[in-house]
Amino acid sequence: VSIKEIGEFGFIKKISRGCVVRPDDIIRPIGDDAAAFRTNPEELTLVTTDLLVEHIHFSRKTISGFNLGHKSLAVNLSDIAAMGGTAKEAFVSIAVPEDCPVDYLEDLYRGIKKLASEFDVNILGGDTTASKSDLMISITVTGSVPEQEMLRRDKAQPGDSIFSTGYTGESKAGLHILLNSIPAATEEFQSLLNAHMLPKPFLAEGRFLAQQKGVHSAIDVSDGLSADLMHIAEESNTGARLYYDGIPVSENLKKFCAQFNFDPVEYALTGGEDYILLCTVPPDDAENIALDYQKKFKQPLHKIGEITDLKKLEMVYSGDRVESLTPQGWDHFKSNIL
Ligand SMILES: [Mg+2]
Repeated sequence: VSIKEIGEFGFIKKISRGCVVRPDDIIRPIGDDAAAFRTNPEELTLVTTDLLVEHIHFSRKTISGFNLGHKSLAVNLSDIAAMGGTAKEAFVSIAVPEDCPVDYLEDLYRGIKKLASEFDVNILGGDTTASKSDLMISITVTGSVPEQEMLRRDKAQPGDSIFSTGYTGESKAGLHILLNSIPAATEEFQSLLNAHMLPKPFLAEGRFLAQQKGVHSAIDVSDGLSADLMHIAEESNTGARLYYDGIPVSENLKKFCAQFNFDPVEYALTGGEDYILLCTVPPDDAENIALDYQKKFKQPLHKIGEITDLKKLEMVYSGDRVESLTPQGWDHFKSNIL
């Protein structure tokens, strides 16, 4: 069997059995945005790690060292945000091919350090090794969260409203611009490129949501809105229903899709690498939380759907027509960046 056939999640299922031999104090093992375990009575320690590989996740031809550094750290900070945590320490490992100039690597670390200092994260170590052909960057980030506040994927309940902290699909549009060498002369296209290369970690927003009493569950959107929502539904043993008219589509994405004849909602649903947060909130608390969020961050919390007990993903179109939706998103073993 090739890994392509079973996919990333089929593979994780195969290897995750037998991994935990000391279950005491392990609160979240494999299967959430970050692992969580108890190291002191007051709070949980969070750990997350991500590996970016040249020609799979990025190409040195189209991304600067600085932007790649930013992105490599941002994707990890986003996972801490999805747990409602505060990011603390980072470890950076790289495998460097002979043809990669030291200038590029210095630029990479400039990008990492700038974002790390912005979010008060130390860089405490890592490893450097040679590589035959591809540049690889693996960053591990630790964080902490009070146990009662932690946001997890498996606590959504039927009836919960589903919220998103921002727009999806822009990163995929930015990638399309990069891969097809489309000149990003306009401000709109530049901002789509930035969505792809300089994602913003929603750490403050994740902390805020974690401190609200009603918020049941959360995840960050790395694979795609529909695919990541399905992770919440599966882990929580529920289903989910999205509102077609409620999916946030930015003006920039609309312009891009109009120009290249793409469906903007399709982009928003399946794009991936958006690093916004999804969370689920019981309907009684939904309105207040959304109002407080708007007041604090001057940005809306978008209501995009609701959790159901149907164990499948659905789309609600205008006139209350409901159709099944197949979760779709980025699969590293089926697509890549050449
Ligand atoms: Mg995640």
